[in-house]
Amino acid sequence: MSETFLYANIIIDIAHEKVDRPFQYKIPPVLREKVAEGKKVYVPFGAGNKIRSGYVVSLTNDNEYAVDKLKEIQSVDENAIGAEEKLMLTAAYMRHRYGGTMIQSLQTVLPIKQKVRQLEKKAIRLIGDEDRVREYIARIQAPRFANRRKILIELLEIDELPVEIATEKLGISKGVLKTLEKDGMIEIRSMRAFRGFSIKTSTAPLKNPLSPQQQAVADELIKKLEEDAPKPSLLHGITGSGKTEVYMEVIAAAVASGKQAIVLIPEIALTFQTLKRFYARFGKRVAIMHSRLSAGERFDQYTLAKEGKVDVMIGPRSALFTPFANLGMIVIDEEHEGSYKSESMPRYHAVEMAEYIAKREGALLLLGSATPSITSYYKAQKGNYDLHKLNNRFGEATLPTAQIIDMRQELKEGNKSVFSRKLKALLTERVLTKRQQAMLFINRRGYAGFVSCRDCGEAVKCPHCEVSLSQHGSGQTGTLVCHYCGYEEEFPRRCPKCSSEKMYGMRAGTEQIAEQLCKLYPSMRVLRMDADTTKKKDDYEEILGSFAAHEADTLVGTQMIVKGHDFPGVTVAGAVMADLSLFSADYRAAERTFNLITQAAGRAGRGEEKGEVVIQTYQPEHYALTFAAKQDYEGFYEEEISYRTLGAYPPVMHLLSLQLFGKNEDEVVAVATALKDELEKSILRPGLYLMGPTPANIKKINDVYRYGIYVKYADLDELICVKDFAEQYFEKKEISSIRLQFDFDPMNGF
Ligand code: ADP
Ligand code: ZN
Ligand code: ZN
Repeated sequence: MSETFLYANIIIDIAHEKVDRPFQYKIPPVLREKVAEGKKVYVPFGAGNKIRSGYVVSLTNDNEYAVDKLKEIQSVDENAIGAEEKLMLTAAYMRHRYGGTMIQSLQTVLPIKQKVRQLEKKAIRLIGDEDRVREYIARIQAPRFANRRKILIELLEIDELPVEIATEKLGISKGVLKTLEKDGMIEIRSMRAFRGFSIKTSTAPLKNPLSPQQQAVADELIKKLEEDAPKPSLLHGITGSGKTEVYMEVIAAAVASGKQAIVLIPEIALTFQTLKRFYARFGKRVAIMHSRLSAGERFDQYTLAKEGKVDVMIGPRSALFTPFANLGMIVIDEEHEGSYKSESMPRYHAVEMAEYIAKREGALLLLGSATPSITSYYKAQKGNYDLHKLNNRFGEATLPTAQIIDMRQELKEGNKSVFSRKLKALLTERVLTKRQQAMLFINRRGYAGFVSCRDCGEAVKCPHCEVSLSQHGSGQTGTLVCHYCGYEEEFPRRCPKCSSEKMYGMRAGTEQIAEQLCKLYPSMRVLRMDADTTKKKDDYEEILGSFAAHEADTLVGTQMIVKGHDFPGVTVAGAVMADLSLFSADYRAAERTFNLITQAAGRAGRGEEKGEVVIQTYQPEHYALTFAAKQDYEGFYEEEISYRTLGAYPPVMHLLSLQLFGKNEDEVVAVATALKDELEKSILRPGLYLMGPTPANIKKINDVYRYGIYVKYADLDELICVKDFAEQYFEKKEISSIRLQFDFDPMNGF
C-alpha cells in the first residue's frame, strides 16, 4: 500500500456542487505520502485560483491533460474529521469493497444539495378543546366517515402530524382533511423542516417497564455502549418477544450520554405504528427518512442530524449514512431482510457497511431478527458477534401450533382444491364461526402467469428478454407484458410454433387464491395485498389499516404481508404453496423459505387465542419447512450451515460474481472468456474456485446479453483483489462496449 501516485482526481466542495465531475491535480512530492482517497485537500480553483476545499476521489499516474496545464494540490487537511470527511471515507471504503466508480459510491452516501427551493411542509393540529373533538367523533359514526374518525383519534394523541404522514402512512385523503378544516376541527400550518410528529406528553406512555429478560439484554448492551470498540451484537428474539422495546431502551441510554443512534428498518415495516412507538419515546428528537424523500428533503434530514438537532434517525438502508457527530449505536432491525442489499452498483450490504462505520466511530452495532441471516448467526458462532436471546413472547401470547400438510396426499384422497381440508376446517371454525381473522400467504405475486401452448408446450417469450411474458387479463384475452422491459403484445390467438389455438395462461398467485376463497366462502370479506394492489404510495398502509380494523376477515398476500405487523385478531396463518420459493436455483432458497414461513407463522395468535399455522407443500419432508413448523431456528441453522459447508457457499466461503453486459453476444462471450483466462493465469491458487463464463439466469434483458464469471474463496480480501484485477484489466484493454459489474455474496439471481 506504500505505492505513491503523481496525480489526484478531486471533487471540489461537495456540499455545494454537483459531484459528477472530478478535476485532476498534481501531487507535489512533499504531499505524496499524505494524499489518499477520501482525504480533504485545499486546491487552487477556477480562473482566479481561489483556494477551495475538495476531496480526493482517486489517484493515478496517468495525466489527463498536459502536465504543465495541471495545478498542484496546496495542502492536505489533517485535522479531525467532520461530517463530509466521514461520508468521503465511507464512500472510499464502499468503492474499495464493492467496486464501481467513486462517483457511484459518492452518490450513494452523500446527500445532494438541491438548488431549487422546496415546497413547504405542512402539519395538521386540532383546534379547540378535546371534548369538542370527541363530540364531533361521536356524531360521525357511519362507516363512510371511518377516515375522518381515524385521523381525529390520532390527533387526540399527537400534537402535530405532518400532512405527508397522514396521507401516506394513514391513508387519509386530502379531501377528508379539507372537510375537517372546513368543519373547524383541524388547522393545517406549515412547519420548518420535515421531522415527523410528536406525541402529546399528557397521553404518551413514555416508557414501558421491560420484562426481566428484556431488561437483562438491554443492560448487557448498555454496558457495551461505554466500550471504545464494542463488538457487534446479534439479538435473536422470536417474533413478538419485544425486540423494539429493547432497542429503544439502549438508544435512550446512548442519547442520555450525548450520543446519537441510527435505526434501520426495512421500508415495508416502516409503518405509522412503528414510528409512533419511537416518537412516543423520543419526541421531536427523531427524524425519519424514507425512499420517497426528494434529494432536497433528504438533504434537510442530513442537515438536522449534522447540526445535532435530532438524536435518532430512522429509515431504510440509506439512513445508514446519516452523518451524526457522535454516533453511539446503529440498530438494524430484521437484519435478515434482502432489502438491506443494494441491487445496483455499488451493491453494498447495509450490515457490512454498518460494521465498517460502527467500527470507525467506536459505535455499537446491534442486529436484530427472529430469523437471523445465516451469515450473521455464523459470525456469532465464530465469536465475531456477541449473541443475545429473547426466547419468550411478551405477555401472555404463546407461539402458535403449526402443521405441515402434504398436498400430494390431499390430491390422492380426492381434494383438488388449493386449500387443504385442515385449512378449510380452520377457516370455517375460526373465521366464519368465531369471527377471527386469517392471513394466507403465497410467495408469488398476483399475475405470475405465463402463457403456453397446451399442444406443444411452447411458452410465449419477450422478444427482447429471455423471459416468459405475463398475462394481464383473464381467459384468452388481455395483454402479455414483460416484467423486465415493459414490452407488451395482444393475447396470441395461435401458438407461434405449431399454430394450435389452445393457448392458455398458467396462473397461481394471490389473485387466484383470493378468487377461490370468495367462491368457497361467499360471505367472507377478502383483502388482497401484493405488488399489483399496492402501486400507489398509500395503498400499503391502507390495506393493512383496514385489515387491522377488522374490515376484512382474510388477508391474502405475498411475502409483504408477513413483515413486522401486529394483528391481534389473526389466529390462522396459512402458507398456501410453501415450497414455491424452494424451487429457485440459488443457495439461499432454503434460508429464504425458512424465514418466510417462520415469520408468517409468527403472525398468528398474538392476541388471546392460540394461533394455528398451516403449511401446505409438495415437499413435506424438506428441512426448511419442518424446522419452520417447529419454529426451531437453531435446528435449521445446523442443517443449513452443513449444507453451505459442503457446497462451499457463503458464509463459509465468499462468492464474487463478475457480471458482463453487452449488446453483442459473441463479443460478451469473447471478452468474458479472455478475462477468465487472464484470471486463471494470475490469481489461481489452491482453494480458489473459478467458474464460467456462463449465461445469467436471465440471459438477455432489453436486448442486452448477460454473462457471469464466479470466483469462490475463503478470504474476502483476496476476492476484493480479484475485483480490482478485473477492473484494471478492463481499463488496460480499454473495453468500453461491455459493462463490468460486481456482486459479492449475491443474494438474488442474476
Ligand atoms: P418484536 O419486535 O420482537 O416482534 P415488539 O417489540 O414489536 O416485538 O413487541 C411485540 C408486542 O409486545 C408489541 O405490541 C409491544 O408493544 C409489546 N411489548 C413488548 N415489550 C413490552 C413491554 N416491556 N411492555 C409492554 N408491552 C411490550
Ligand atoms: Zn404450440
Ligand atoms: Zn422484455
